[in-house]
Amino acid sequence: MVDPIRKLTNILTLEAEECEDRAVFGGLARYADTWLRETADLYASDTGAGEAWRQDVAGRLRVYSRLPDQAARRKAVTALLELLRQGPSVDKSRPSVTSTSAPVSLSAANKNERGRAHTGLDSPVTVLRGVGKRQAQRLAKLGVHTIRDMLYFFPRRYDDYSCLKPINRLQYGEEVTIVAQVWDAGVHRTRSGGKLFKAILSDGSGSIEATWFNQAYLADKIRAGQHLAVSGKVDEYLGRLCFNSPEWEPLDVERLNTGRIVPVYPLTSGVRARWLRQLMKRTVDYWARRVPDHLPVSVRNEAGLMELEEALLQIHFPDSQESLERARYRLAFDELFLLQVGMLQQRRAWRSEPGRPLRGDRGLLNRFLRRLPFRLTAAQKRALRQITTDIRSPRPMNRLLQGDVGSGKTVVAAAAMVLAISAGAQVALMAPTAILAEQHYQTLTRLLAFWPAGRNPLQIRLLTGRVTGAEREEIYAGLADGSIHLVVGTHALIQKGVQFHNLGLVIIDEQHRFGVRQRAALRQKGYNPHLLVMTATPIPRSLELTVWGHLDVSVIDEMPPGRQPVVTRVLLPVERERAYSFVRAQVEKGRQAYIICPLVEESDKIEAKAAVEEYQRLQKYVFPDLRLGLLHGRMRGDEKEETMSRFAQGALDILISTAVVEVGIDVPNATVMLIEGAERFGLSQLHQFRGRVGRGEHASCCLLVSGSSSQEAQERLRVVEATQDGFALAQKDLEMRGPGDFLGTRQSGLPLLHLADITDLRMIEAARETAQRLFERDPRLIHPDHRLLARRLAEFWEEREFLQEGEIS
Ligand code: ADP
Ligand code: MG
Repeated sequence: MVDPIRKLTNILTLEAEECEDRAVFGGLARYADTWLRETADLYASDTGAGEAWRQDVAGRLRVYSRLPDQAARRKAVTALLELLRQGPSVDKSRPSVTSTSAPVSLSAANKNERGRAHTGLDSPVTVLRGVGKRQAQRLAKLGVHTIRDMLYFFPRRYDDYSCLKPINRLQYGEEVTIVAQVWDAGVHRTRSGGKLFKAILSDGSGSIEATWFNQAYLADKIRAGQHLAVSGKVDEYLGRLCFNSPEWEPLDVERLNTGRIVPVYPLTSGVRARWLRQLMKRTVDYWARRVPDHLPVSVRNEAGLMELEEALLQIHFPDSQESLERARYRLAFDELFLLQVGMLQQRRAWRSEPGRPLRGDRGLLNRFLRRLPFRLTAAQKRALRQITTDIRSPRPMNRLLQGDVGSGKTVVAAAAMVLAISAGAQVALMAPTAILAEQHYQTLTRLLAFWPAGRNPLQIRLLTGRVTGAEREEIYAGLADGSIHLVVGTHALIQKGVQFHNLGLVIIDEQHRFGVRQRAALRQKGYNPHLLVMTATPIPRSLELTVWGHLDVSVIDEMPPGRQPVVTRVLLPVERERAYSFVRAQVEKGRQAYIICPLVEESDKIEAKAAVEEYQRLQKYVFPDLRLGLLHGRMRGDEKEETMSRFAQGALDILISTAVVEVGIDVPNATVMLIEGAERFGLSQLHQFRGRVGRGEHASCCLLVSGSSSQEAQERLRVVEATQDGFALAQKDLEMRGPGDFLGTRQSGLPLLHLADITDLRMIEAARETAQRLFERDPRLIHPDHRLLARRLAEFWEEREFLQEGEIS
């Protein structure tokens, strides 16, 4: 038995291609009676809407063959398909139209209604029939508060029950729908005392038994003689095919749970699947067409996108896999497109603000470069050229400097500082940890020691949380009156009390550890200062475009010459002893080693405890004769720094550490990096650890001890073993772990994307190009066609914490 509605839909879809009335033999007019016959018992019990609808469809079919021309037929087919799609239950107040001249078009009255409806979208879900306070509270748990939330609450997956089959053709394991009559139904007791409801279903071709466990209440709903659509996976019991707890619904209601691609929503207690589906269907049917499409037609055409209304309808209740795909594409594209337009706007806002050109003293810069014990690599030179061009221009620089660990970013940054300071500006460098700030401070003091000791000797200061009292006041004063030229620090730099006389260049190291807010906070200490953010985590292109799309990018993609690759080996837990003897051998040669403790996700505290235990164990049983140090996140800042500096000075042989050592520390004499529980770290993070060694003249090595001997863990680690290429690792990492983990936490500022896949470079680039073209035409989105887009854009960014601080115009 075929679903007559689906059958007619298929016929009309075929007809719509040419509109020559050739889809069925003898023409559609003759099909009208067949249609009435086939649908006769569909609404037998229903005297109202169903019957009127059936007659409406038949009436339209009858006149079809007499329509004057193709255009008229085309309109009629569209209207008929729409009528079929909506089904009988939708709009009971609508008079039953039997003429063909009422295609779906927007009357003026309708347009007004749209305007009003827009505000309706923000109404609480309680305005929906059947949603009271209790249900609203439950929906809120799913993140659904308003009607708009509801429309954007997408299924987490779908069950495809669109395949309709007669019972005698069912096969074990397939997902199908049958339309059948209930022969017998009743509650049975199981041996264990449970209740189950059984029904024998037959469709003339055969019969099959369906069983529902613990749903005795079905006895009131499913009765012998009734016609049902039943959907589910065909199971088998004692050699006979059967259904276990299939979806079902009577034939006289619109198909929501059977006979189609059925959406499966996330649920919470008190929100049942069938109830939510019903509510969703009503909501989507009524509201989807009231959501104005914010994408201008030009954009939609260019990118080949479905209309928003259609996309919302299809993502919830898809007509086919194909239209589901198109709906998904449209909605995912939406997110990426809004993201890209936002980036472009922000970039434009930044660039349109006046900045201060810092011309600086070229001679001094050359002197700085000549004094270095090495020559810049070509990649460093290129990055420096880009930076100097930027800061000499009257537009504020916004640049991301990417380079693998050890690629020499610091020197490039120092060169930029030389120019900025010699132009009379102050410079601030912000690092994520006190240890790192301290190290930068020392490096920079050394690098800038060449500064001519004239009338105005260079003043460099360190400002971290540890600096307090009189010293802090003195630094505050020096920054405020301009006598301090360069300040290196941590979050302490963005405290309220810090004011600059003339902040011209802001440099942020390891930028993904800072929130966007913090970055903005430091920028705001100056008058549109130039901004350089440095990151050692190579950023895959897709992320670069989505998270940092508003920045210009310089990449140092070349290592200084003579750098030896860090030999990397994956070891099984049983090979740990070998690793220890290797460490010992290196220490005996006068080298130093790091041992990284496994990552403990639960808490800092537990992690610290584990690190202390590991440290004690190693000191007592493994290296009793060596000098060991310990570093973990729960130590006070000064304790950490004390340990670090002792390690740096060679007073410790081995540094046992948690992941806190990951970033930036530079001890050239260290040649072994032993990582315990290596499988718990991301590939990029392992690569960062590895970058801590191989920084001097000695051959170095990285030992990855996996806490798990699983094949999968081993293979993942082999990737690190096989490549020294940070970009390749980052890409792999992103693919394997997803962007949230890849970037650390949500503080990374990664905007929330519901549907878009942030590794889908092709879609990202398409969205970016489309955004750029639109932006070239109308950067301020003031054209009337773009007004909705401008509004939606504002909402989009509001929903995300990203890029606030008034950075978007
Ligand atoms: P990054 O911050 O990118 O990880 P650093 O700036 O700390 O790298 O540089 C790593 C090491 O390489 C430092 O000891 C630095 O002095 C050295 N270095 C930087 N550039 C060069 C170069 N062009 N040639 C040789 N050594 C370099
Ligand atoms: Mg560095």
